[in-house]
Amino acid sequence: MSSRLLLATANPKKLVELQRILDNALGSGRVDLVGLGDFPDYPDVPETGLTFGENALIKAREGASRTGLPTVADDSGLAVDALNGMPGVFSARWAGGHGDDQANLDLVLAQIGDVPDEHRGGAFVCAAVLVLPNGREHLVEGKQRGQILRARRGTGGFGYDPIFLGEGQSLTNAELSPAEKDAISHRGKALRELAKVIAKELPR
Ligand code: IMP
Repeated sequence: MSSRLLLATANPKKLVELQRILDNALGSGRVDLVGLGDFPDYPDVPETGLTFGENALIKAREGASRTGLPTVADDSGLAVDALNGMPGVFSARWAGGHGDDQANLDLVLAQIGDVPDEHRGGAFVCAAVLVLPNGREHLVEGKQRGQILRARRGTGGFGYDPIFLGEGQSLTNAELSPAEKDAISHRGKALRELAKVIAKELPR
């Protein structure tokens, strides 16, 4: 029997990604994933948290209470050591406009322009949560540590990928294939961890 699960996102790429990770982890057909696109009147939920975990919980609690379905949500971003963990939860809107990847990346580069190489560390962080209609909540976190480069390299990925060189890597995240990035990324780690929780919580 397959269990219906809501992923609280309107982004179809995230749905495909999580479905692939769940199929790999649990066997295909075990979970039937739906997105916010399946709920036409779903309101815009402001992400008012100060941590990735808080924002993921806000989205998942709203989803579970509105739809009655077990709900997964994630929230992620780049935490730069020299900026005290910022842009953090403001990663998508660091330069002002929501989702302007180029401007966000250029602003981070400018802000740490005079920071020496040994202090240019940072991490991609992803919080992923499962909220059940009975109120049970699970929160997991995945991290990828690395260095913030001084100029872009590569054309794949999105967001800050072209300036992020993961620890132990010779290619930036924007030079990796999607599968290579999944294997080491903050989101890949968090979602594979959450898949184990989903396997325990959802009835067979
Ligand atoms: P979201 O929570 O996944 O929507 O991510 C919020 C923002 O964090 C994105 O708009 C990007 O700026 C940044 N971000 C999150 N994950 C990644 C990634 O894997 N690569 C590059 N940027 C990312």
